[in-house]
Amino acid sequence: MSIPIPSRQLFIDGEWREPVNRKRLSVINPSTEEVIGDIPSATSEDVDLAVDAASRALSRNKGKDWSCASGATRGKYLRAIAAKITERKPMLAKLEALDCGKPLDEAAWDIDDVAGCFEYYAELAEGLDAKQKTPVSLPMETFKSHVLKEPIGVVGLITPWNYPLLMATWKVAPALAAGCAAILKPSELASVTCLELGEVCREVGLPPGVLNILTGLGTEAGAPLACHPHVDKVAFTGSSATGSKVMASAAQLVKPVSMELGGKSPIVVFEDTDLDKAAEWTIFGCFWTNGQICSATSRLLVHESIAEAFCQRLVSWSKNIKISDPLEEGCRLGPVVSGGQYEKIKQFISNAKTEGATILCGGNRPQHMKKGFFIEPTIITDVTTSMQIWREEVFGPVLCVKTFSTEEEAVELANDTHYGLGAAVISNDLERCERMTKAFKAGIVWVNCSQPCFCQSPWGGIKRSGFGRELGEWGLENYLSVKQVTQYISDEPWGWYTAPSKM
Ligand code: NAD
Repeated sequence: MSIPIPSRQLFIDGEWREPVNRKRLSVINPSTEEVIGDIPSATSEDVDLAVDAASRALSRNKGKDWSCASGATRGKYLRAIAAKITERKPMLAKLEALDCGKPLDEAAWDIDDVAGCFEYYAELAEGLDAKQKTPVSLPMETFKSHVLKEPIGVVGLITPWNYPLLMATWKVAPALAAGCAAILKPSELASVTCLELGEVCREVGLPPGVLNILTGLGTEAGAPLACHPHVDKVAFTGSSATGSKVMASAAQLVKPVSMELGGKSPIVVFEDTDLDKAAEWTIFGCFWTNGQICSATSRLLVHESIAEAFCQRLVSWSKNIKISDPLEEGCRLGPVVSGGQYEKIKQFISNAKTEGATILCGGNRPQHMKKGFFIEPTIITDVTTSMQIWREEVFGPVLCVKTFSTEEEAVELANDTHYGLGAAVISNDLERCERMTKAFKAGIVWVNCSQPCFCQSPWGGIKRSGFGRELGEWGLENYLSVKQVTQYISDEPWGWYTAPSKM
């Protein structure tokens, strides 16, 4: 059953505010292609207001502002947010499914993860005070030194549409735990649940300006946020192309950034494995979330001795994936997020055919779905390493396959990419798994699985998949700066002027 999209404004300084230009953007249900609501469209004037509100949240009531509040106080707010999210899980999951097309079950997992992530960072916030002053041992007794970890300040958080509320939470929760004030700019393609986070913050009484939420276009709201002189750091998740633009504009002000970008991750299946288990992880690793996963293991490398049997399994399993409206019971694959993404993915498939690859299954709109941006799970073989389908991120339900004969060849093919987000190995030989783990050039390695993600472990890539790590304690460090404090504790004069030899 569908539900109405709440009509919200921008969330600035703890209040709902109409965008200065009063413009709104349509919300389109990707299953039906119908307009089901709208969201406010922020521009640079709204960015100024939000940055101002965030700055005031960090300077109001000297000593009692958000950054000076105890970790326990910040943790209390984060726990309250987690509780409200859990209370609203059914509604938030439906909104997420309607807005971005992901199956309702998967949207519900996301909402559980959102609540879990706020809880996790509540705990880290509570432990932060004790860690904030760390002594450093020095080789001279006349000095003592310690390190303070302090909130970076006002942070701009720019996020994508594939896990709308979850990707926002991976940034908002640690930023607030660290004592920063934030401006969140979610993707214009799926912002509805992020605006609901504003309502949750209002209800729990989060101090005004600590979290501001600006929906709108990347060029109109994201770009001015990234280069705003009073934003102290930008944390970005999105495509490598946009990430590069954000880095260039932040560089003008030497503003620190962290980047979670795209991927083209491999899954390597060896001949010594159980084919059913390997097939399940391969399919899940590429087709989950309608294939729109940054870490999708979208390049399958399979040992030549099992390639035929394995591909047959993949094809027959893929044909049995239930494709339907995401709200329908048992849906496993919904539509991709937008008409633009649909066209882009179709073009990738068509280019692969033109370049000489074979479409083993899928490649089209499923016949039973007359409307919506649906694409069948697609498996492509006869791929060469120079083809676009091998090299570029599709961000849809498309798996390309190559065979290998030796472990060395598998490593070479796996690392044959500009990206370095994830990599998976499936084998019963754990020593081999260990060798592969070390050989993969990636920020995340899965052994005998693909995709599981826990908020306690670091997440992020190398090469063009970005830098910096989200989640775990590493995620908190993203929003803390390190201050060295060194004190001279001797009663003796330092002696540079009187006795230079002492130095
Ligand atoms: P995108 O780069 O198009 O947009 C991401 C965000 O940037 C959106 O909020 C958008 O409005 C904003 N934006 C666009 N132009 C901007 C500009 N000039 N200045 C500032 N902000 C701007 O990415 P997308 O299509 O929303 O998301 C898909 C991409 O995200 C894929 O490449 C995927 O791999 C990546 N992703 C990575 C991770 C990760 O953890 N590494 C997670 C999820 C998604």
